[in-house]
Amino acid sequence: MKSCLVVDDSKVIRKVARRILEELQFEIGEAVDGKDALDQCIAKMPDVVLLDWNMPVMNGLEFLVALRSQTGVKQPIVVFCTTENDMAHIRQAIEAGADEYIMKPFDREIIEAKFNQVGLL
Ligand SMILES: [Mg+2]
Repeated sequence: MKSCLVVDDSKVIRKVARRILEELQFEIGEAVDGKDALDQCIAKMPDVVLLDWNMPVMNGLEFLVALRSQTGVKQPIVVFCTTENDMAHIRQAIEAGADEYIMKPFDREIIEAKFNQVGLL
């Protein structure tokens, strides 16, 4: 079973993502912001991170930069979520090391398609 860390400051979004990903046979962890996610990744690296952009304490981009600077660990696949159809944000995320991105609101079909693209399904 592959593990997925769902990082989002919205409890509702984490719940929706958890339900979809559990159906796709992932073991789910949840983090409420980038700092929480980084602490959890350092303790135990997941196979994939589903990452929100706008969060308090540490946002998605700051988390991604910090994650990708971790050496000597197996890096997870990172799928970035954004609400804005904003090419600048997407480019920034890809440059910082995101593997794929999805637009919110997402559903099972969208997650399945993207996870397929990055070889997770
Ligand atoms: Mg958010």
